Amino acid sequence: MAPHIAPVQTCEDFPSSVPVVIIGGGIVGLVAALTLSERGIPVIVLEKGVVAGEQSSRNQGWIRKTSRAPADMPLAVASDRLWARLPQKVGTDVGYREAGILFLARNEAEMEAHEAWIHSVEPLDLDSRLLTPGEIDRLVPGGRGNWAGGIYTPSDGRAEPSLAASAIARAAMAMGAIIVENCAVRSLVRSAGRVTGVVTERGEIGCDTVLLAGGLWSRRFLGNLGIDLPTLPLTVSVARTVPMDGPTEIAVGGPDFSFRKRADGGFVITQRSAIKAPITFDHLLIGRKYLSSLRSQGRYLRLAFGRDFIDDLTLPRRWKSGRISPFERMRIKDPAVDEGAIHEAFVALRAAWPIFDDAEIAELWAGTVDVTPDSLPVIDQVSEIAGLIVCSGFSGHGFGTAPAAGELAADILMGSTPIIDPKPYRFSRFER
Ligand SMILES: Cc1cc2nc3c(=O)[nH]c(=O)nc-3n(C[C@H](O)[C@H](O)[C@H](O)COP(=O)(O)OP(=O)(O)OC[C@H]3O[C@@H](n4cnc5c(N)ncnc54)[C@H](O)[C@@H]3O)c2cc1C
Repeated sequence: MAPHIAPVQTCEDFPSSVPVVIIGGGIVGLVAALTLSERGIPVIVLEKGVVAGEQSSRNQGWIRKTSRAPADMPLAVASDRLWARLPQKVGTDVGYREAGILFLARNEAEMEAHEAWIHSVEPLDLDSRLLTPGEIDRLVPGGRGNWAGGIYTPSDGRAEPSLAASAIARAAMAMGAIIVENCAVRSLVRSAGRVTGVVTERGEIGCDTVLLAGGLWSRRFLGNLGIDLPTLPLTVSVARTVPMDGPTEIAVGGPDFSFRKRADGGFVITQRSAIKAPITFDHLLIGRKYLSSLRSQGRYLRLAFGRDFIDDLTLPRRWKSGRISPFERMRIKDPAVDEGAIHEAFVALRAAWPIFDDAEIAELWAGTVDVTPDSLPVIDQVSEIAGLIVCSGFSGHGFGTAPAAGELAADILMGSTPIIDPKPYRFSRFER
């Protein structure tokens, strides 16, 4: 089950060489392609499935600073500015609205955590503020929840995942980028320790630089080259309702539900505390690196041991570039929906805001995110292979930060002044 994606007429043919190849037609790779094209650098984007077929169309469309790790805030703040300019840049409305985000707190301990976060980002002078239960009633009327309070950031936003990546892809192509779907990159061609090309399922392309923006597949791609990018998969199930009257334009996160108004008048709904952790071989390999994040986030996780373990094991971890790669075997990762979690979300949501009694589900889907041990992405040159840059591991919040992340990747690639300090995103932090 997959959400609708605005169609993009991509290219069939590509030249035998180009300065830059981008692996992955998700929102991050596409922003980088648009940025490089605007700067006059010829680029080819190779996508094994379809543009935005994985995380970039399946997400909830929240553009969030609230409760984000302080180290990630410069990227989020820079992205806000770029989102505001994006409709003009791509020539179409992608549903971007500064509609605000609100997280509800059940008890004083949760309020204290929100207060501590506001304190930690004080130097940034954000518009985030704590809310009393009365203020929540005024902002999101018709509620019956018994909240201790909440945290609210009016300048947080939303955009439509079904529109944004496609619009960026079209704009990049209008600037000269070549985007090819159904074309997996199997491996790199290297000479004297640096990249000289890529091997695709349709032959080789010579290039000077490769940007790996392969989402949850970047770990497997790098693993085949002997490089360990620690990311683990987590799966989130999503419901979309038909257009309906709702309580607010603000996106609201409760303990066991979340809702976000869509541009078409419907809502996107999830069970926030039911994130499926499908156990794979990688959990055995690198799970220990996640112990500290498990202590704070572990209560949201539901471990699942089953089909995912077998599916993952049957995909090779090492392969030769003359052979079919895992990326051709799984063109689009389309995980099973956890209908039980969706049911729980609706029960909790209807108890909190009875207006959702009338909600009618139009569509369900699930998506798998790529989570690093510290929940920050890697945006960096790979030290072992000159000319290879990686931009992956967005840990479930890379839709909002994609505009600045893709631009940062382009800056690193070109050696130009970076849009923000890239230090939090260094690959080498995992060596410690
Ligand atoms: C259910 C869900 C809810 C989310 N909610 C939010 C939210 O509200 N706000 C937010 O900010 N973020 C959210 N996220 C996270 C966000 O969607 C991702 O962080 C972001 O889309 C990552 O973009 P990406 O381009 O890195 O990855 P992707 O969109 O996954 O794109 C990577 C692409 O690379 C392609 N690829 C991989 N390997 C190869 C190869 N070898 N050759 C060719 N192509 C390859 C894949 O097919 C894929 O299309 C959510 C994610 C999910 C799944």
